[in-house]
Amino acid sequence: MRCFFERAMAGAVKNVSQFQLTTEILERSVAQTWDEARREWSLYAIYEADEPETCLCSHFPIIELCVLRNRHNGIQATVGNCCVKNFIGLPSDRIFQAIKRIRRDPSNSLNPEAIQHAFDRQWITEWERDFYLKIMRKRNLTEKQSAKKLQINDRILRHVRRQR
Ligand SMILES: [Zn+2]
Repeated sequence: MRCFFERAMAGAVKNVSQFQLTTEILERSVAQTWDEARREWSLYAIYEADEPETCLCSHFPIIELCVLRNRHNGIQATVGNCCVKNFIGLPSDRIFQAIKRIRRDPSNSLNPEAIQHAFDRQWITEWERDFYLKIMRKRNLTEKQSAKKLQINDRILRHVRRQR
C-alpha cells in the first residue's frame, strides 16, 4: 500500500491537503497513477455555495465549488476551485473570475472558458455561444446586441447560484 502511494505521488506531494486530494481522486479513478488519473476528470458543474462546504482535500470553508466527473466510471467529486486550479488543472478559476466580473457589472463580458462551459452545460445555444465570442471584446454594441448579451449574462449568473 505504502509502495503504491509512494509511486503514485512521486514528486507530487507538497502538503497534506494535496496528499489527501490526490488520494481521494485516485480512489475514484480508473488509472492508478496521479498523472493519468487526473486526466480522467472533467468539469461537470461549478457553483457558489450559500453555505460553505468542504473540499475533497478536507479544507473548510469553501464557497467556490466544482463538481468533477470521471469520464470512465461516471463518479462525481466536489472539489474547491483552488484545488481544481492547483492540482487538477481544469479552467474553473477562469470561469469563476468571469462570473465575478459580470456580477460586479452586468455589462462586463464573460471569457471564452466561461462561454464554453455554459455551452457544454446547455445553458446557452450554439448560436448564443458564437454570438458571444464575436461581440465579447467589442466596446460599442447595438441596442439589440447589448440586450442579448445582458440576457446571457443574467442566465449564467442564475445557473451558478445553486442552492443546496
Ligand atoms: Zn481543496
